[in-house]
Amino acid sequence: MAADGQVLYNHSLQIRVGILTVSDSCYKSLLDDRTGQNLKDLVEDEARFGGFVSVYKIVPEEMDDIKETLLDWCDDKELNLILTAGGTGFAPRDVTPEATREVIEREAPGMALAMLMGSLNVTPLAMLSRPVCGIRGKTLIINLPGSKKGSQECFQFILPALPHAVDLLRDAIVGGKPHHGDLDNLPSPPPPPTPPPAPPSLRLTVERGIQCQGHEEVKKDSGVSSTEDSSSSHNTSSVGVKQIPEGIVSRGVQAFPRESASLSSTPSESPRAHSTSRFSTASCPTPKVQSRCSSKENILRASHSAVDITKSSRRARAASFPLTSMDKAFITVLEMTPVLGTENVNYHDGFGRVLAQDVFAKDNLPPFPASMKDGYAVRAADGPGDRFVIGESNAGEPPSQTVMPGQAMRVSVGSPIPCGADAVVPMENTELLKESDDGTEELEVRVLIQARPGQDIRCIGHDIKRGECVLAKGTHMGPSEVGLLATLGAIDVDVHKFPVIAVMATGNELLPPEESLQPGKVRDSSRATLLSVIQEHGYPTIDLGIVGDNPDDLLTALNEGIAHADVIVASGGVSLGDKGRAESLSTIGDGSEPGVDRDDTGDYFKQVLDIDLNAQIHFGRVFMKPGLPTTFATLDTHGMRKIIFSLPGNPISSIITSNLFVIPALRKMQGIIDPRPTILKARLACDVKLDPRPEYHRCILTWHHQEPLPWAQSTGNQMSCRVLSMRSANGLLMLPPKTEQYLELHKGEVVDVMVIGKL
Ligand code: AMP
Ligand code: MG
Repeated sequence: MAADGQVLYNHSLQIRVGILTVSDSCYKSLLDDRTGQNLKDLVEDEARFGGFVSVYKIVPEEMDDIKETLLDWCDDKELNLILTAGGTGFAPRDVTPEATREVIEREAPGMALAMLMGSLNVTPLAMLSRPVCGIRGKTLIINLPGSKKGSQECFQFILPALPHAVDLLRDAIVGGKPHHGDLDNLPSPPPPPTPPPAPPSLRLTVERGIQCQGHEEVKKDSGVSSTEDSSSSHNTSSVGVKQIPEGIVSRGVQAFPRESASLSSTPSESPRAHSTSRFSTASCPTPKVQSRCSSKENILRASHSAVDITKSSRRARAASFPLTSMDKAFITVLEMTPVLGTENVNYHDGFGRVLAQDVFAKDNLPPFPASMKDGYAVRAADGPGDRFVIGESNAGEPPSQTVMPGQAMRVSVGSPIPCGADAVVPMENTELLKESDDGTEELEVRVLIQARPGQDIRCIGHDIKRGECVLAKGTHMGPSEVGLLATLGAIDVDVHKFPVIAVMATGNELLPPEESLQPGKVRDSSRATLLSVIQEHGYPTIDLGIVGDNPDDLLTALNEGIAHADVIVASGGVSLGDKGRAESLSTIGDGSEPGVDRDDTGDYFKQVLDIDLNAQIHFGRVFMKPGLPTTFATLDTHGMRKIIFSLPGNPISSIITSNLFVIPALRKMQGIIDPRPTILKARLACDVKLDPRPEYHRCILTWHHQEPLPWAQSTGNQMSCRVLSMRSANGLLMLPPKTEQYLELHKGEVVDVMVIGKL
């Protein structure tokens, strides 16, 4: 050990490595073992690992063969490292992990995890790989997949820790525990290769797991990055968007991995490549940015400096964010939105909340036998006949007298049944025979019927039994549920928190509605609309006011929202305005709304989200009308996830997109199990022309007498700047995009309508 406690590595001993290829086909010489050869090259590459492959062998996919070799190499040859290649998949003969597990004395799950995590970022098929890593004596054994590409990637994923791991095992370290600084200095893995995207047909082949070019073999190691030219591996779309593996992170959600987006070399590949110029000239606006300015931002600035798009004439003219389909955008929002934690609230505050606990009955209901009718508690065995009335059972007081044969006691609905009585005869089945002189008390009555035992009595626990689960976790509570809490005496209950939503309107043209109009200005109406939409659902809001369309004001407002709210909803600023208007929508066939719903290329809002806040922008344009520039981002900070919506500033667009995206997200946050909006079928009350984009068309739903479906009446011209089209609208017609065959829908046709207001 060095005097200062630092670790010293003895690199004078070369790392001795064994490569064991597990493959029936290679063993039978049906295939060349390209994987094994490639691994040898990687291991011996001085720039990578600098090891020495002292032994190399191909065995069939047999437990005994694999085990025997591993034991020999560990115990007799005392290799430092054994890399197996192949036999880690799901096929019946894939037994390398099992054989390895029988040989090792200690597992090294972190290495297997590193390979799986790395590979899952490449392809979801990595799920099908079962690598085992472990230690026997002084030998480290690593299971790699059989394909050349997969094994190379996995080797690279563990490479940062591999020399250190081997050194630890072979006692080559002079000294004790490694110093953190040394671990920090471990080499980073070289970036995995990025093959070009392949056509869909090839992807199918890969996904069926029938290519394995390392061993050129059918079936095996379908898991980790199984093909050399796999299109599913590192599938990079033409716009530089990496596909998050379906089913692993987010069921096919597109995301913009920070690195690939920001470092993309061609402008068309980077959502930020057209960002405005403050990054090409200005210094970092906040200390927060300052600290991150060293690498990525510099690259960004360098790339922006070529095009100064503060000059309108030079502003970006191409769409930077890929168009996301409505379905994908919606799924993304729900998948990226967290369910909030819980809090304990008084039942009075339970309305609208989702229970985070089961609520059990601590008492029976009713807690005593109670009458269901106004009448007389009797002994059923007495049958019909005359009875002496011994008094009355009053609500709230347990009766003190016992009903004896030939007697009855007056009862009313809900009052306790006295001892001795086992039935209630309703008032209407009796006759009064005798009353007190003042007429206030009944003294004798005649029972006209034969009562059944138990008749008209709610026995103890008839409605709710003690210990019964009355309200299950996940229940979205309305008035009845709040009433039930009260019934049960469940005074304080655990519920999911309500999200707090900060709302801002952005735009230099906006004036507070309270102020008189000035030339070129418009009153800010989107903020009031958004606040109301959110408040209608019961969520607390913070009004961040009108925010100037400049990076510093936007950043300040966003930071304010992030500090105090779970969700930030901004309107405006996602279109270009004067700071760089993109091409009109003619590229996607939209000519109906000139001047609105513009693209987003250079807006400050996304820039601030991305560069200043380091938020992840999941989508920046949605193929919908209206709402094309709708943007959704998440920011993980201090262990919490903030979600951020940037909606088009136009009041109509913002109200529609808030109903489509924001409200479902808020519902998910507060724990509602199915947060999707209500969609029903309706008949079109008029012909409607279809748009190239899926359109959300404001309508009023009305029910006509004796007709099962409501009629959906359009609110008229749907230009997104036409605020009157929102008046009285309680539904959104969900119109499909037009096709060559279908240019319009006709009166009477049945369409889907999303409910957005009171019916
Ligand atoms: P933007 O999304 O910021 O490009 O705005 C699109 C259109 O909506 C422009 O005509 C804006 O003036 C208008 N607009 C933006 N924000 C608001 C707002 N808060 N209230 C009313 N109109 C707005
Ligand atoms: Mg604006």
